[in-house]
Amino acid sequence: MANLTLKHIYKVYPNGVKAVNDFNMEIADKEFIVFVGPSGCGKSTTLRMIAGLEDITAGELTIGENVVNDMEPKDRDIAMVFQNYALYPHMTVYENIAFGLRLRKLERDEIHRRVTEAAEILGITEYLDRKPKEMSGGQRQRVSLGRAIVREPKVMLLDEPLSNLDAKLRTQMRTEISKLHAKLNTTFIYVTHDQVEAMTMGTRIVVMKDGFVQQIDTPRNLYNYPGNKFVAGFIGTPQMNFFEGTLKKVGDNVVVDFAYSDATITVPYSYFYKTRPSYLNGETKVFIGLRAEDISLDADTVKESNATIKVKISHTEELGSETLIYGDINMEGDGYAESSTRVIIKATGEVEYKSGDVLDAALNLNKIHLFDEETEVSILPRIPEYNYFDCEVKNGEIEFIGTKIKMPSAISCADGKGELLIPTDAISFDGEIDATLLGVEDVNGKKVIAMEVCGRRIYAVSDEEPQEKQLKLAIDMKKITILQQGKEVVTPMPLTVSFDGNFKKVKTVEEELGVRKKVIKFMFDIAGTEFVAPDELAQKLFSALGVHKAFEMKYRYECSPYDLRFADQGIPAKVLGICDYGKEKFLRCAVGNSTIYVKAEEGIDAGEVHLVPDIDKIAIIQANMDIRLV
Ligand code: ADP
Repeated sequence: MANLTLKHIYKVYPNGVKAVNDFNMEIADKEFIVFVGPSGCGKSTTLRMIAGLEDITAGELTIGENVVNDMEPKDRDIAMVFQNYALYPHMTVYENIAFGLRLRKLERDEIHRRVTEAAEILGITEYLDRKPKEMSGGQRQRVSLGRAIVREPKVMLLDEPLSNLDAKLRTQMRTEISKLHAKLNTTFIYVTHDQVEAMTMGTRIVVMKDGFVQQIDTPRNLYNYPGNKFVAGFIGTPQMNFFEGTLKKVGDNVVVDFAYSDATITVPYSYFYKTRPSYLNGETKVFIGLRAEDISLDADTVKESNATIKVKISHTEELGSETLIYGDINMEGDGYAESSTRVIIKATGEVEYKSGDVLDAALNLNKIHLFDEETEVSILPRIPEYNYFDCEVKNGEIEFIGTKIKMPSAISCADGKGELLIPTDAISFDGEIDATLLGVEDVNGKKVIAMEVCGRRIYAVSDEEPQEKQLKLAIDMKKITILQQGKEVVTPMPLTVSFDGNFKKVKTVEEELGVRKKVIKFMFDIAGTEFVAPDELAQKLFSALGVHKAFEMKYRYECSPYDLRFADQGIPAKVLGICDYGKEKFLRCAVGNSTIYVKAEEGIDAGEVHLVPDIDKIAIIQANMDIRLV
């Protein structure tokens, strides 16, 4: 088995470059994973950490059953293929392929078996007696693949193996590497900056930018459901069209207004159930994304569409089976310069348009993408984060979509109308609200559950699928938000408790069987109180930061309100109040200048208390560089 797990992996180079940030991923046995992104985004660094050619600053890397952070490359059961195939010029192809096996002192017969088998798979049997200089670039890259294959590794790592080859050969080798993966039945991890290579080869793709993973998904899902504007623009040719615009909710519709042009369309609100109301105020700028094939100039499509805009044609590009039509939705625009109004439309078959023609174009609303203008994150996410409803608070109850629920005492706000945000993970199936199941979609292992309550759609996200069609929903009230006049009057209870602190070395003298011994202990100083640091955790800090630096750094210790208990000794805190959410109670406590929430315990409800965190569940973050060490 060669599954890999990357858990909170970071890489900081000695010169301070933070090349990889919090990389998390599970790779299943025999997957073909592609890391893709622009130059410098950290893909090679990640691959080299997997290979063992680069130290892992923080985090845990598992191959099969073993944590391999400190394992030598040669013991990891991996083989690597590089862009620059670095064959020995004085050796024949056979000798080049056999070289590594000879070093490992394999039997002659076994070496011969492996070399001939690999040559067979790669179609280079007839070249085994040649020297590298008598071969083409493609053939040489095959030899270097052969050198990797004969090691019979559990994981094959390939770092831009095709970028030295010309376009035609690259396309051909792409297919061959895919075939090779199918034949060898091992896990492949492949690095490239070429999105076409990624899309055609990967079973799943990791898109990276500036050291951060942007999205991990299948090629199809990346194309259809990009999580942010970067992924939307990086994947697919021609690039997705992006227009700036605003959205305004008017009754049961939303008016989409395209900036710098007269274009507007009116769309049923149901398309925007997943979008935060604050984006629908007619003022907040958003990016509207539509792929070239989701805009149509076809007369019949336009006639049937209720979402059309005018396009002024500038020029066309014939690509054989399809034509790219360039234009502008601003009648003053030229359709050539990159701008927020330029549009590229893909048409199949023969089309003839003249420069300067003004035509109606139909937008396929089912394929519309929307992104926040600043963060560039999708505001129409595939896995919805929130449900948004109009609501009214009255007499201690909150009413929305024909449903009334009692507000627990932890929540209070003035009576009046407003908006209610219910996170999709705050809905469970053990309550009193009647709902009808509409459908369940599996999105990367999560179940997105669509339901209807009093005629309105509501989404829940859960690990499990409900078994009944008629459901009784409960809402975790500590996670809701209520807005009145655009202001948040009820906010979710924070589910992360954060303490500032240090890491220390303490010398003590201990007596054992009458012998006094000096002992050094490592301590976590959490909000001014010391707790013994288990050796294993202290080692993680040392290996990430170095033994001396580890004691100089500032840390943030984080846990959940459920991971703190009350004790006689511990972090001093003052109880400020009780938050009663009905099923659950929490204590609001002051620790220094900050307020935290802790799961309540029977009999404790006021005064000075002491808190002890569960050290096994705590996250330790190096504060100034924001590296999660544990
Ligand atoms: P990619 O493979 O995506 O092009 P790399 O992983 O090679 O990117 O590099 C990621 C970042 O780390 C870049 O900013 C690069 O300059 C930096 N980097 C790479 N190797 C080193 C090194 N040995 N020392 C310092 N910085 C490095």
